[in-house]
Amino acid sequence: MGLKVLINGAGICGPALSIFLQRSNPSHEITVVERSPSLRVAGQQIDLRAQGIAVMRKMGLLDTIKTKTVAEQGLAFIDANGRTKAVFGKNDSGKGQQAFTSEYEIMRGDLVDILYQESLEVGRRVERDGKGRCVRYEFGKYATELRQDASGVDATFSDGTQSRFDLVVGADGQGSRTRRMAFGKDLSENVFKPLGAFVAFFSIPKGEGDGAMAKVFHMPEYRIVSTRTGDRPITQAYLAVLSDSEELKASTSKPVQEQKALWKGLFEDCTWQRERLLEGLEKCDDFYAARVGQVKTETWSSGHVALLGDAGYCPSLFTGMGTTASLVGAYVLAGELARHDGNIPAALESYNNVLQPFVTEIQKLIPGTPNILYPKTEWGIWFLHTALGVFTTLKIDKAINMLLPEDKGGWKIPEYPELKLES
Ligand SMILES: Cc1cc2nc3c(=O)[nH]c(=O)nc-3n(C[C@H](O)[C@H](O)[C@H](O)COP(=O)(O)OP(=O)(O)OC[C@H]3O[C@@H](n4cnc5c(N)ncnc54)[C@H](O)[C@@H]3O)c2cc1C
Repeated sequence: MGLKVLINGAGICGPALSIFLQRSNPSHEITVVERSPSLRVAGQQIDLRAQGIAVMRKMGLLDTIKTKTVAEQGLAFIDANGRTKAVFGKNDSGKGQQAFTSEYEIMRGDLVDILYQESLEVGRRVERDGKGRCVRYEFGKYATELRQDASGVDATFSDGTQSRFDLVVGADGQGSRTRRMAFGKDLSENVFKPLGAFVAFFSIPKGEGDGAMAKVFHMPEYRIVSTRTGDRPITQAYLAVLSDSEELKASTSKPVQEQKALWKGLFEDCTWQRERLLEGLEKCDDFYAARVGQVKTETWSSGHVALLGDAGYCPSLFTGMGTTASLVGAYVLAGELARHDGNIPAALESYNNVLQPFVTEIQKLIPGTPNILYPKTEWGIWFLHTALGVFTTLKIDKAINMLLPEDKGGWKIPEYPELKLES
C-alpha cells in the first residue's frame, strides 16, 4: 500500500527523497511544497563526497553529475597582490581521500535541477505504467500548521488549504519551519548550534586572472574573501566573517538590499579586488547569506514527522558534507520506509538509529575550526600563510586532508534491495 507523503522543501534532499520513494513504491502519493515561487537554483559550488557519491551512483545519476562538475584544480591562498602563499591541490584519481576541492564540485543550482528533473521523470514513468501518480510540486506554498494524531498529520497551508498525510518530511533547510512546528519553537532553536561565522555567496563577472584555482584572501578582523571560477563563465564570490554581531545575527531574515549594505560595510576596506567585489555584490541577483552552524538533535522524528538534510543534521559548510548528508539521509529514510512497509514509527526509529553514527562522524570539525581559519591580525595571517606554505612544500597537505570528516569512521551506506535501484 502506498503512503501519502508531504515533503516540505524542494532543495537537494526533497527531490532526492521523492525519487527514492517513487522508485520503491509507485503507489506512494507524494506532494512537495516549496516556499519559493520557483525552483531555488541560487547558490554556489557545493561538493559531493564519499557516501554521497555512492548514493548518486545508486540513483543512476553519477554520469549526469560528471557532465556538470566544475573543473577546479585546487585552492590557492593569496596575498593582497595576488601572490600565491600556499596551494592545496585536488585528488581526481578516483581513489583515496578527497582534498578540500572534491572530485565532484558542482554548482548547487545544477544539482537541484538534476534531482528535480529526475524526480519528475521517475514520476512520469510511474504514471505511464499506470502504477500511480507523478510527484506533485507546489511552489510559493508552505505548511503553516501541523496537527498530529496516532495515525497521521493534518497540515494547513499558506494558501488556506488543508490536507491529511501519513508522513510529513521537513526538507526545508537549516532554519526548518517543519522542525519548529513538530518540535516546538524553543527546542527547534536550541538545536541550532552557531559556529560564530557568517557567509555570503554571490556571482560576479569573470575577471582576467580567474581560472582553475580557487583563491582565498585573508583580511584582519577575522575576514575571508574567496573567488572560484574553474571552467565556468562566471566567478563565484564568497565573503565570510567570524563575528558575534547582533546585526549580522538578525540580518539573514532582512530584505536582500539591507543584507547587501551590511556586507558591503564589512568589506569596505578590502585590499584585494575591492572594487570588483563590492560592485559585484551591489549588482548581483543571486545573493545568499547564512549564519554558519550545525543542527544537533537526538532524534529526527516526532510521531509522523521526520527531519531530513540540513533541517535535521546540518553539519555546516566547514565540513563540506552538507550535500552528502542530505542525499544519504534521503536514501536511508526511503530505504527504512520501504523495509518497514507502512509501519512509519518503526521506519523512523530505524532511520534515526542507522543514520546517527554517520551524522556523529561528519559533524566532527577539524580541531580549532573555525577560529584557526580566521586570524585577527596581519601577523596572524602571515603565520597562517607560512604554516600552510610549509605543509604544502613538505607535501603534508595530504595529511591535513585526512582530518576532513569523510575519512573518519568508515561508515558505509546500507544496502536496500527494497528500493529497487540498479546497483
Ligand atoms: C538559495 C540557497 C543557496 C545555497 N547556497 C549554498 C552555497 O553556495 N554553498 C553551500 O555550501 N551551501 C549552500 N546552500 C545550502 C545547501 O544547499 C545545503 O546545505 C545542503 O545542500 C543540504 O540541502 P537541503 O536540501 O537539506 O537544504 P536546502 O538546500 O537549504 O533546501 C531547502 C529548501 O527548502 C525551502 N524551504 C525553506 N523553508 C520552507 C518551508 N517552510 N516550506 C517549504 N519549503 C521551504 C528552501 O527554499 C529550499 O529550497 C544554499 C541553500 C539555499 C536554499
